[in-house]
Amino acid sequence: MAVYTLPDLPYDYSALEPALIGQIMELHHDKHHAAYVRGANDTLEQLAEAGESASPVTTVGLEKTLAFNLSGHILHSIFWQNLSPDGGDRPDGELADAINEYFGSFDAFRKRLSTATSGVQGSGWGVLGYEPVSGRLIIEQLYDHHGNVGVASTPVLVFDAWEHAYYLQYKNVRPDYVDRLWSVVNWPDVARRYQAAKAAGSPASPAG
Ligand code: FE
Repeated sequence: MAVYTLPDLPYDYSALEPALIGQIMELHHDKHHAAYVRGANDTLEQLAEAGESASPVTTVGLEKTLAFNLSGHILHSIFWQNLSPDGGDRPDGELADAINEYFGSFDAFRKRLSTATSGVQGSGWGVLGYEPVSGRLIIEQLYDHHGNVGVASTPVLVFDAWEHAYYLQYKNVRPDYVDRLWSVVNWPDVARRYQAAKAAGSPASPAG
């Protein structure tokens, strides 16, 4: 039985237009995200089949493949929820306070996350994360799906910077795509993720 399953999009393919055209959303969800789900399940199966006799070389290959696909599945699952046809504007409450505290202002934060996302070399993501060891928000530039992040950080807002996320509509102009993404950010979802991450505490603290 498959361990991971493809979640439904929480809205119609065309619901985020004009920021994102339906054709992008359909391909992105039904083909790309689905492939990561399949890849994670297949790789777990292969690791189980290889079992204790797996060679170091086989193990390295399968573990990298698992990290890529599993992280791709998780990031896309968050990404769909982070966006909404009713999104946009700015956060309020504790999330807004934390953004002001750690980035100076919403506008400064927006500029920094936009730059991190637009500036990904090759494929990756711009991420607003909660870093639980220091208890603060941080911006991370994530490569592929699984590189260049602090291991304990919890993503609360993720911007997909892979070409498959925008090329059909924005061609090579990634900054325009990132600019439009802000108009569909689901701030209540981001705020819930921030609260949940804060409540989970620090994995670097002694257990108990
Ligand atoms: Fe993607």
